Amino acid sequence: VSREFELIERHFTREPRGAVLGVGDDAALLRPSADRDLVVTTDTLVEGVHFSADADPEALGHKALAVNLSDLAAMGAQPRWVLLALTLPRADDDWLSRFSRGFMTLADSFEVDLVGGDTTRGPLSICVTALGEVDRGAALRRDGARAGEDVWVSGVIGNAALALLHLKGDVRLKDPDLGKCLARLHTPKPRVALGRCLVGIASSAIDVSDGLVADLGHIAGRSNVRAVVEYSRVPCAPSVVSIKGHDPIRRAILGGGDDYELCFTAPRDRARELEKLSGELGVGLTCIGRTEEGHGVAVSNEDGTPMPIEAAGFDHFR
Ligand SMILES: [Mg+2]
Repeated sequence: VSREFELIERHFTREPRGAVLGVGDDAALLRPSADRDLVVTTDTLVEGVHFSADADPEALGHKALAVNLSDLAAMGAQPRWVLLALTLPRADDDWLSRFSRGFMTLADSFEVDLVGGDTTRGPLSICVTALGEVDRGAALRRDGARAGEDVWVSGVIGNAALALLHLKGDVRLKDPDLGKCLARLHTPKPRVALGRCLVGIASSAIDVSDGLVADLGHIAGRSNVRAVVEYSRVPCAPSVVSIKGHDPIRRAILGGGDDYELCFTAPRDRARELEKLSGELGVGLTCIGRTEEGHGVAVSNEDGTPMPIEAAGFDHFR
C-alpha cells in the first residue's frame, strides 16, 4: 500500500486549482459553479485492445485523457476535473513517469485538475473519468439536429486512419502530412475551445471517434433526420486528394475514426458565424453536407449519385 501511495504522490500530485479538496483524502470534494450543468464521461483503454504493448507511455498518457476531453468538447463543456484509475502489471517507475508526463501536460494545458484515482495490479488498463461544466441546459447533444440544416466537420478527417495505413505500408504519406497524421493518431488534440464556442450555434454535435459515417449516424439516429454527406467536400490530407476515390482511402476518411474532430449540425443562417469562428480559432470548419427528412447517413459522389457505402465495407455503420 505504501508503494502505491508513493507512486501516486510522485507522479500525479498537483496543487488543485478548482477543487475544494483533491488527491489525498478518501474522496475528492468538488464544487460545481452555480447555474451550470455537470458533464461527466468515462473511457477505458486496454492493452492489446486499444493500444499495443510497445506503445509510447507519454503518448498513451496524452491520448487516455484526450479522448475523454474530446467527449466533453462534443458536449460544449469546459473540462474541470479528472480521475484516473490505472491497472499496472508492475510498479514501473520509468513507465509511470513518462505516462504521467503525457497525461499531466495535457491536463495542465486545459487547467484540468486530477482530483482522484486508483492503482491496482493486473493487466495494463487505463480508465479515465472527466468532469466538465456547461451553462445550464445549453449542452450540445446528439438529438438536436433538424431537417434542412448544414452538416459540418472541424479540421481534417481520416488522418488517424491514414497514419495506420501508412504504418501498415498500404499507403505512402510524405511530410508534412505524415507528421500530422501520426500526431493525430498518437496525440490527438481535443477540440475543447471549438466545442465551447459552438454552444448556441450548433444544433447537435459529436466527436469523430468511431468514424465519420458511424458518428454522424448517431446524430441522425438520435435526431430522427437523414444526413447526406458530399464526399468530395470532406476535408482530407493534401497527399491523398488525388487518390481520394480509392477504396482504402475512402474507407479511412469515411470509416476510420480516432480523429477526435467535431462533427456538428447548424441552421443554414449560422454559416457566416461559423466561418468567422474558424478564423478566430484557427481551426478549419467545413460544411460537408446537409440534413433532410428521413433516416441514416447517405454519402454522395461529386455528380450527386449515391455512393454505395455498403459495398465499401460500411454495413455495420448503418
Ligand atoms: Mg464521443
